[in-house]
Amino acid sequence: MPSSLCEALTNSSISFDYQKEDDWITSGKLGSREAVLVFRTNILNPKIRKTLSEKSSAQVLTESKDNEEEAVQCQEKQEQKESTSSEPSSKDSLSGSTQQKIFLLKKPQQCDKSDKLTFSSPFKKILNRYSSSDTSISSEGEEPASSSEKKSRVLKTSQNTINIELTADLSKESGYESIAPAKSLSNTVVSEEDQEVTSEDDDESGINMPASKLKITYKFHQTETKLLRKLFNVHGLTEVQGENNNFNLLWTGVHMKLDIVRNLAPYQRVNHFPRSYEMTRKDRLYKNIERMQHLRGMKHFDIVPQTFVLPIESRDLVVAHNKHRGPWIVKPAASSRGRGIFIVNSPDQIPQDEQAVVSKYIVDPLCIDGHKCDLRVYVLVTSFDPLIIYLYEEGIVRLATVKYDRHADNLWNPCMHLCNYSINKYHSDYIRSSDAQDEDVGHKWTLSALLRHLKLQSCDTRQLMLNIEDLIIKAVLACAQSIISACRMFVPNGNNCFELYGFDILIDNALKPWLLEINLSPSMGVDSPLDTKVKSCLMADLLTCVGIPAYSPEMRSHYDQKWSRFRSSSCQRQATFPSASQKTKKSKKKGPAINLNLTGEEQRILRNARLQYSRRGGFVRIFPTDDSMQRYGNFLDSANGIPISTPNVQSQTFQTPIIQHNYNQMIHQNLYSKDGRQKQEDNSEADRIWQYERALETDSEIPFVKKPTVEKCEVEGRRLRKVMLKKISNGSELTPFQARQTFSIYLESVLRRLTEDPKDNHEKIILKFLNKFGGSIKPPVMFRNMQTIKVASKARSAMVAKLLGDFLENYKRDTEAYVDSFDHFGMIPSSAYNQFLMHAQESDLEAVLTLHTNVTGIMPFLYNRCGLSVPPTPPIPSGLHGFLRALPSMVSSTGSNRELSKYDGYFKNFDKEKIFL
Ligand code: ADP
Repeated sequence: MPSSLCEALTNSSISFDYQKEDDWITSGKLGSREAVLVFRTNILNPKIRKTLSEKSSAQVLTESKDNEEEAVQCQEKQEQKESTSSEPSSKDSLSGSTQQKIFLLKKPQQCDKSDKLTFSSPFKKILNRYSSSDTSISSEGEEPASSSEKKSRVLKTSQNTINIELTADLSKESGYESIAPAKSLSNTVVSEEDQEVTSEDDDESGINMPASKLKITYKFHQTETKLLRKLFNVHGLTEVQGENNNFNLLWTGVHMKLDIVRNLAPYQRVNHFPRSYEMTRKDRLYKNIERMQHLRGMKHFDIVPQTFVLPIESRDLVVAHNKHRGPWIVKPAASSRGRGIFIVNSPDQIPQDEQAVVSKYIVDPLCIDGHKCDLRVYVLVTSFDPLIIYLYEEGIVRLATVKYDRHADNLWNPCMHLCNYSINKYHSDYIRSSDAQDEDVGHKWTLSALLRHLKLQSCDTRQLMLNIEDLIIKAVLACAQSIISACRMFVPNGNNCFELYGFDILIDNALKPWLLEINLSPSMGVDSPLDTKVKSCLMADLLTCVGIPAYSPEMRSHYDQKWSRFRSSSCQRQATFPSASQKTKKSKKKGPAINLNLTGEEQRILRNARLQYSRRGGFVRIFPTDDSMQRYGNFLDSANGIPISTPNVQSQTFQTPIIQHNYNQMIHQNLYSKDGRQKQEDNSEADRIWQYERALETDSEIPFVKKPTVEKCEVEGRRLRKVMLKKISNGSELTPFQARQTFSIYLESVLRRLTEDPKDNHEKIILKFLNKFGGSIKPPVMFRNMQTIKVASKARSAMVAKLLGDFLENYKRDTEAYVDSFDHFGMIPSSAYNQFLMHAQESDLEAVLTLHTNVTGIMPFLYNRCGLSVPPTPPIPSGLHGFLRALPSMVSSTGSNRELSKYDGYFKNFDKEKIFL
């Protein structure tokens, strides 16, 4: 062992007084290169955290010194072993006692039938179990008897028989924590899934956790996920911000800068691969798959609905339409959450200049109780070469709120044809399950609940899941080539990148899955206890599986120095690849699993794959499997194992001076060799199907707290309104920040009214305002003119509310750029104004905005004072909703704003057509 590493280990005076280190570190002893952090959902529960810290004060660990000595020995052994063995030791693996503490996954053959109704039923996915004592800590909270609870049974199917059986022995856990005091002024639902994971006053510092002692850090970039932040904090990770790139884990919501990727140290992890937009952009994904259809044959890659990219392929679309008539679904190329989507019967109904992706509309979707549904499944890729793909055992099924009807008259109705939560949540009939155990209730189910439901109807769920696995693998294969070449160019270390993709899949009524899109950074927002359960388990398992190295700062700087020496001697990652002579090195270690012909690099890859597999939690490895080479070998280059999607790739993209390797073949041979000397991996088809079908269960409740609502005092609001009106009359002005805050809280009230008590004329006003305002909030074509949808309906209200919600989300984000750091002369003092905002009702806000606009003649809530195209301020009528009525005329109808009349022709055609799909 190099002396500097010894020093690094000895200098890290780490002592744990919280829990046994073994509970939070796995795959190697602390100090070894392979030791990684363990993440578990149970400590999201404040009661469990409290119990743990109480326990720990009684059993303060004095083992730290011993640990370090052991670690030094372990590291020495490890370094010796690395060149000789590819097999993880039993100590390192979670298959030993540590694993049992962490992942109690009972295999089907280990359970007899009598188990089925008990807590450890094989149909339950019991994850991240801490210890048997956990179950004694039951919740004292009360389950609210909400009105939605009664409604929520409406969609329950015959499956409730089996569900009741399965949950019979479970102690009832509450779905809600008590509501925490409000900290924020904005309290309306505007984002995708926007509730808190737990109350903010919880102690969530994880101060005594190993990660805290090891000073493990994370960094968020252009993303904010409360659930993830919470998980990091309770596990003791610390956030770094700004330009500080001294992170262990970087979590970004966007594609990464290549500069950051290039400079990653071996212990650093990032949540994306370079060029993964090849998978996550709708147009790129389709083009990649289309190429495979041409190269490998349609029958192998018939996994996406036929798609055209407009305007370039407009003519091809018309030709395709003349062969097989529509309908077609039109989606903006780079959009998400159902924004801007509409369905047409014929291509001539699509505006000429529309830049969009147009797909064949699948008219016969699988319906649950008459409602169209689609799937969100979570796919983890930890490496592209070798290709390692996991599918999370649980997914989310999203149901449309309005019953499905193929009649063309209904094509406009997004709450019937689109399953996005972000659209359907505004429908007044939308039902959320209020209990994490209710997985087949309301408009969001779990994947396993759907499978059990289909099984009861004698559907072949085994084949369905195998087809879904096949679709995922083929989609990845179709896009992998260019990601692999980017990884070779830019990623310095094989373990630096991982990525969790959200696959959106539609199942048709013949049970064939269709890939709709792949989401970069799938939403980790939560809107219900069920969502919280699935996503918390998913994230905890993800972090454990990918493995965040448990290195102290001293160990990090040791590796940093080593790394910079390495980088200065060569910028090419290929330079580290083994030489052919290394292949002849023989292992001295006895045992069945040693492959004598592997290079050091191959041994490391194999060892990593095994260790990762042993930490997989609820992830099911779908590639490689025992038959993956048989099934997909033809799509891989025979020499280097790279998935080939261009005919002449061998001679071009991968012409590198390195020794030819075929990691896919190597991994497969070593994991699934039939010669009996190798350990067989236990992810057979039967194991995988069993895992998908059982319900996800945690051993302790994961708190879900509804976003707090502000208790407003009407009288106080009225009093403060008078004060504000007086100040404005006397010449005081709102700062731009105050004006924007007022406007957004005002619009939130309007939004609430639209969903609770829709008013036809208010919807029209809002739509007119949004249409004129333009920008990124672009209503689907049929909504650009309200007259076209004559019947007022809950679905139409939901659509307008969704548009307003999207507008508000952007507006609030922009408002964050405005700050009032001190009170300006002639402006209203911020403390007094915040008091007013705290208690103001819609009418109070309206009164202030109206007077301020009339007196000052400016509209700081919409325009900066110096803007060139600021329209004249319109006179605002007094009285209730006067401000709302004036709203559209506050926006100029020139410039970037859209022209309403342009599409009128389309609407007339659309209206006249009465075609059955
Ligand atoms: P977004 O990224 O905006 O959510 P999606 O591609 O996921 O766009 O589509 C949104 C919704 O539209 C899906 O939930 C699905 O129900 C429906 N959908 C999308 N494509 C099709 C299609 N080809 N056929 C039928 N329904 C579709």
